[in-house]
Amino acid sequence: MSFENLGLAQPILKAISEAGYENPTPIQLQAIPAVLSGTDLLAGAQTGTGKTAGFTLPLLHLMSEAGKPRPQEPRHVRALILTPTRELAAQVEESVRTYSKYLPLRSMVIFGGVGMNPQIDALRRGVDILVATPGRLLDHHQQGTVDLSRVEYFILDEADRMLDMGFIHDIRRVLAVLPPKKQSLLFSATFSDEIKTLAERLLNQPKIIEVARRNATADTVEQVVHPVDRDRKKELLAHLITSNKWFQVLVFTRMKHGANRLVEFLQKHDITAMAIHGNKSQSARTRALAEFKSGDLQVLVATDIAARGIDIDQLPHVVNFELPNVPEDYVHRIGRTGRAGSEGRAISLVCVDEEGFLSDIERLIKRPIPRETIQGFEPDPNAKAEPIQLGRRVLHGGGGAKTGGSDRAGAGHGQQRHGGRPGGGRGAGAGGARRGGGGSGGGGDRSRFR
Ligand code: AMP
Repeated sequence: MSFENLGLAQPILKAISEAGYENPTPIQLQAIPAVLSGTDLLAGAQTGTGKTAGFTLPLLHLMSEAGKPRPQEPRHVRALILTPTRELAAQVEESVRTYSKYLPLRSMVIFGGVGMNPQIDALRRGVDILVATPGRLLDHHQQGTVDLSRVEYFILDEADRMLDMGFIHDIRRVLAVLPPKKQSLLFSATFSDEIKTLAERLLNQPKIIEVARRNATADTVEQVVHPVDRDRKKELLAHLITSNKWFQVLVFTRMKHGANRLVEFLQKHDITAMAIHGNKSQSARTRALAEFKSGDLQVLVATDIAARGIDIDQLPHVVNFELPNVPEDYVHRIGRTGRAGSEGRAISLVCVDEEGFLSDIERLIKRPIPRETIQGFEPDPNAKAEPIQLGRRVLHGGGGAKTGGSDRAGAGHGQQRHGGRPGGGRGAGAGGARRGGGGSGGGGDRSRFR
């Protein structure tokens, strides 16, 4: 099945062909006809499956079919796409722009962390398709600088991440100001009970489609653990990058300040590196991402939350500088490599404090990860595990070292390690609280980042 056979308009087909896409991906094969038929849609698809084009292409087709905007008629927001993060919003809007290149439709992105005024000016000039993060969108709505009363198409992208990040109230507030009659699409990587409840509220007799979960630990990702002492990790990372001439290395740390310190260290060792996390300005993050994608920047250091929703394809190397305390985060992290059939390597630098995290991860992915000690970086066999400070929380990830035994599942350790995850939810990663200290919404998106 080709894009032509899906019945998309010529200007869209031209843009797709210029983007170099030859065949629709599985999610596109299912989503495009469903959206074109005009029904609501509940779609299960992760980043990397081509989901953005899956909803954007038919959306553009429907919008272009409905007739060109007449010059004397001011444009109004006809399609609203909500995303959890600024990066994802920017990327989705870039895709909309690419695919609508030959259509008379205007798109725009709004998110927090940057000035309101340029956004207000652009909104005033008129927009057909608006991509936004919830907090800043609500700010505009409260100030009366955006009119959502004539939205015909509403898309909630990465709905599960939105809920993880505590956006449910913001989503409800947005829904409350949208017209009841509209076509709604909900995209989510998982179908939890919370997502089902949201879908019931938002969608009207939806079609339900799901593509197989991308198996992040698939054979295209080679995983390895390098055991190392905690205070030699930085040195080992620099050694690995330099001696193997690695480029485009995405490195994960648990905490923002850890990311900054690591960047300083790498820079001192002539490795170009930048950190991407919530304390960085939007322009710094955008620049880091662009340089990383173009290959100018060798290393991007990210925390789990900051990395979410970033679309960087087929990375050759993902490094866990620190193992995540939430094992599912490991799967998300290494899902950044080995995409679309290309080979990738996921490297974890593990010290004695993290042996417990490693066991949890191996249990989750149902396979042991091979250990490979690097010559000159052999860990001290007598080292004792120390607790890990994570914001105000203290985690015991060591392999039972405190008691000298190997029974980590014993009450104290197990409870403390998982203590920050009520209901087993994801996303409590670095920093403890799910929403930062920024209060109760409406104040931009800063508080949701770490
Ligand atoms: P997404 O899942 O929307 O984040 O898309 C993942 C990546 O796949 C993006 O870089 C897209 O540009 C790319 N992509 C989307 N659809 C296709 C397609 N049909 N053929 C090739 N690449 C695609």
